[in-house]
Amino acid sequence: MIKIPIGYDSLIITHLPNVRYLTGFSGSAGCVLITSTKRLFFTDFRYQAQSKREVKGFDVHIVPTGALPGACAYAVKRRLKLGVMGFEAAHLDQRSFLKVKKILKGTSLKDSGGIVEKSRQVKSRTEIGRIRKACALADLAMEKLRRTKVTGKTEKQIAWLLESVMRQAGSGTLPFEIIVASGPRSAMPHGVASGRVIGLDELVVVDLGASVDGYCSDMTRTFTTGELSRRQAEIYRIVKEAQESAFQGARPGVTCAELDGMTRRHITVAGYGDAFRHSLGHGVGLEEHEGPVLAPRSKEILCAGMTVTIEPGIYVERIGGVRIEDTILVGSSGPVRLTEFTRELTRLR
Ligand code: ZN
Ligand code: ZN
Repeated sequence: MIKIPIGYDSLIITHLPNVRYLTGFSGSAGCVLITSTKRLFFTDFRYQAQSKREVKGFDVHIVPTGALPGACAYAVKRRLKLGVMGFEAAHLDQRSFLKVKKILKGTSLKDSGGIVEKSRQVKSRTEIGRIRKACALADLAMEKLRRTKVTGKTEKQIAWLLESVMRQAGSGTLPFEIIVASGPRSAMPHGVASGRVIGLDELVVVDLGASVDGYCSDMTRTFTTGELSRRQAEIYRIVKEAQESAFQGARPGVTCAELDGMTRRHITVAGYGDAFRHSLGHGVGLEEHEGPVLAPRSKEILCAGMTVTIEPGIYVERIGGVRIEDTILVGSSGPVRLTEFTRELTRLR
């Protein structure tokens, strides 16, 4: 349970994934107010029944004016002791902030930073179970792809097929748009599926994820539709080795910057340092991108119970791109892959 940090007297939480984390509420409008004596949840009439069912450990209040202004007005009316109130500056737009300030006149508002995000980084068993299920759905989509003829189809058709496989098997709304990047487009790290027709002898980067009870998975495999050139095969081998060694290194106590640096060195020594331009990975949970960040300047340290991605990639224009990404669990006795589809180069028809 979240505690009010030193230097604050109360907290207002508005970022929906944080609200969901604290209360269990999965709707699209809600906020949490925590004081030294009260734990309150606010939403509007649309979520009356749902909040009664989902919200645990908080007094639920249905407010007519919207969750956030409603919470502030309630606090003023009931003369709750707010003192220095922490709010999520990163997630509150200027207009809402001014509105809050106006209603709460006199209360001093102070950015609470990412305190809920921080506590979300280490997952409970229940959370890991959900992420595991979301990962199994991603694996299922990759398995389906392996048995599908992709040449002659557009990237969008393939993306839709993969999406429908995951949704039919129980995934909630996909956490992000599926990337299918074939041929020259594979050199784009973020090549969301286009109308391009997939041809023979191409690299095809597929990046997808599912969601289960709000928890996400994130996984990339790079396939071929025939023969690879010598350079393409070399790039594949380097990325696969880099991904394996980063996975093996993802242990409690290792800093995220160290792990990123180690992998970057691996790729640099192989001659492709300039072609690996994104970070090594990121946390996965209620959001598909959350803390910790596995990047050169990250200050964070891996802890047992974190679920993160390991996703090195090499992208060379006119040759193509390769990325291999797994969602993994930083286990107390070693790393565990939650996405398990083979990392051996797989040939698609
Ligand atoms: Zn991804
Ligand atoms: Zn990712």
